[in-house]
Amino acid sequence: MTEAGRLIEMLEAWRAGAPWARLDPRRVGIVSSHAAGPLQVVLRSVYETRGVRYELRPAPSRTLQSAPGPDPWSSLPLPADAPIGAEVTLRRSMGLTTAFDCARCGAIGESTCHRCGGRGSVSSSGSTSRCPTCNGRGQQKCTLCGGSGGVLGDPSIWARLDSHEEVRWCASAEPLPDEISDALHEAVGEWPVLQRVEARPTLDARDLVGFRSHVLSPQLLELALALLAHPGIPDGARLHAQILEVRQPEVIAARLASGTQIHVWGDPVRVHPSRPLLSWRGRLLPFLAR
Ligand SMILES: [Zn+2]
Ligand SMILES: [Zn+2]
Repeated sequence: MTEAGRLIEMLEAWRAGAPWARLDPRRVGIVSSHAAGPLQVVLRSVYETRGVRYELRPAPSRTLQSAPGPDPWSSLPLPADAPIGAEVTLRRSMGLTTAFDCARCGAIGESTCHRCGGRGSVSSSGSTSRCPTCNGRGQQKCTLCGGSGGVLGDPSIWARLDSHEEVRWCASAEPLPDEISDALHEAVGEWPVLQRVEARPTLDARDLVGFRSHVLSPQLLELALALLAHPGIPDGARLHAQILEVRQPEVIAARLASGTQIHVWGDPVRVHPSRPLLSWRGRLLPFLAR
């Protein structure tokens, strides 16, 4: 459909809301029309993060040198059906126990008594007596390491896939009324896609060749490269896939025979300013209502 045809269709949808108040869109005299929506560049990245989690148990003695834990990126593959946004636990077949100093008590083997808060005494009904839990010492045996100051950890590796969208708006060549640009920037819209580049595992400048050849503007390419340099994912994460899209919300700018410029946009359709399209009754009634 041509821009002009689409414009008439949108104006008719708008007019259907209050047919008595508006002129027939086919009779308003549209001299020219063009797409005026600001371009949006969106980079969606699917990435994986990993870490090691330990199931801790008391060690017989304190360890003065902690062994390094396993590398979370070592050969354990992520299951092919790993969901986005949920953690998956990857276990090694052989146990790889790691010894640590106990972090709860600072490897001392004792921690502040939870009952008396370290005071050694407790009060009840006006009288103070020696704390029965720590026997007045104010310290109790550490519940994590059992007093040895050391713990053993059985590692498991967690991994999760997440997706993230970074969005940049391209400064419009022609200014839009504030009402429209504010609403567009606030809307979370799946705008119509003008261009799309998809790659696994990651996009790089070469993947943008298609983008470059069909390009909308050097400014868009610059935005795309800036997004790829800063995809907004955590440090150390690994990329699985990226999709780069240029989207454009539908905003049609039109010039009427009267010389007035209007913008037609949105769902439900809105017109800015609507005054040139109102009949005398449409203008009079809001006036009288004031
Ligand atoms: Zn106590
Ligand atoms: Zn401890």
